[in-house]
Amino acid sequence: MNKAMQNNIKFNRPYMTGKELYYIAEAHFGNMLAGDGPFTKRCHRWLEQETGCSKALLTHSCTAALEMAALLLDIQSGDEVIMPSYTFVSTANAFVLRGGVPVFVDIREDTLNLDERLIEAAITPRTRAIVPVHYAGVACEMESILDIARRHNLKVVEDAAQGVMARYKGRALGSVGDLGAYSFHETKNVISGEGGALLVNDPALALRAEIIREKGTDRSRFFRGEVDKYTWQEVGSSFLPGELTAAFLWAQLEEAEAITTERLAIWARYHEALAPLEERGFLRRPIIPVECQHNAHMYYILLPDGPTRDRVARRLKEEGVHAIFHYIPLHSAPAGKQYGRVHGALAVTDSIAGRVLRMPMWIGLSEEQIAYVVETLESVLAEFAIQ
Ligand SMILES: *Cc1c(COP(=O)(O)O)cnc(C)c1O
Repeated sequence: MNKAMQNNIKFNRPYMTGKELYYIAEAHFGNMLAGDGPFTKRCHRWLEQETGCSKALLTHSCTAALEMAALLLDIQSGDEVIMPSYTFVSTANAFVLRGGVPVFVDIREDTLNLDERLIEAAITPRTRAIVPVHYAGVACEMESILDIARRHNLKVVEDAAQGVMARYKGRALGSVGDLGAYSFHETKNVISGEGGALLVNDPALALRAEIIREKGTDRSRFFRGEVDKYTWQEVGSSFLPGELTAAFLWAQLEEAEAITTERLAIWARYHEALAPLEERGFLRRPIIPVECQHNAHMYYILLPDGPTRDRVARRLKEEGVHAIFHYIPLHSAPAGKQYGRVHGALAVTDSIAGRVLRMPMWIGLSEEQIAYVVETLESVLAEFAIQ
């Protein structure tokens, strides 16, 4: 076996705690398979306690949670929503589905998050909301963003898909704005295959959130005995996952703290091992502002330019290391051009998107494997320096 085969290091491997099937069996034998059963309630309570949000609601995905947010904010045709272009499609799609117009603003050089200093200039009379995306589980500058939102009477929806167990000034991501959306997709830290949650922080929106999630009916209130029949109240859909998904998720939430600790250890190992390459000017490591307690969702590096990034990724793959790039900025995608609008030059977005390379990151990645990734990266970069 050659070295590359020995070290076929995947980019991601979902972590299972070992209790998932046990809880799924419990749901199975309990004959409770539809949504909002005992496991869903347990997950809701856990999320509410952990984040301090006023109401947590499990959804099929973070995408579904963002779609709920757009319905809750009553986004209408032509309403503008300020967001980064450097994000996943769902951030924009959820609002476009309601006729909203994503207004793409540039990101910060250090955190790759929405640049709060550029938001205010992008506000127009049509602006309704700001959607900060906490990239890599590192918080956006929420204090400034909340201040802008307050002064302009805008809502804040946090796309905290990557932010489970991360904090900003001590507050859980997703619990800082009016609404927050989590993802439990297989590629995230805490998972249920597909899955997500909407965190409702503005108590005035809690009742409507339940209604929108239950096909536009007040079925949740009916089950609590608050009304004697349930009826169609407003536009909604079916956003709730079944109990099997919630049972799986419960096994993960119970271990969320341990999962985060383990990932942080891997992250720290990369960070330390890559310091010399940063000092020599080969790459830039992630920057974590002091007020941000991240969750080690991702370990990325920034290479000097796009062609170098692509060559490094190709060479690493040949050596058995699966490092991958990330978002194609939405403003340069066909649908982004059709449905969105750009505010100002997106110079940092365009530059960063071509230079990001994400390292393998999963629980179980051994010290030897991390060392192999770093050594391989070092030798690949040295190859290029000689050429
Ligand atoms: C993963 C992700 C999503 C989508 O999450 P799903 O649960 O797959 O819908 C949305 N936004 C960001 C920033 C993400 O990283």
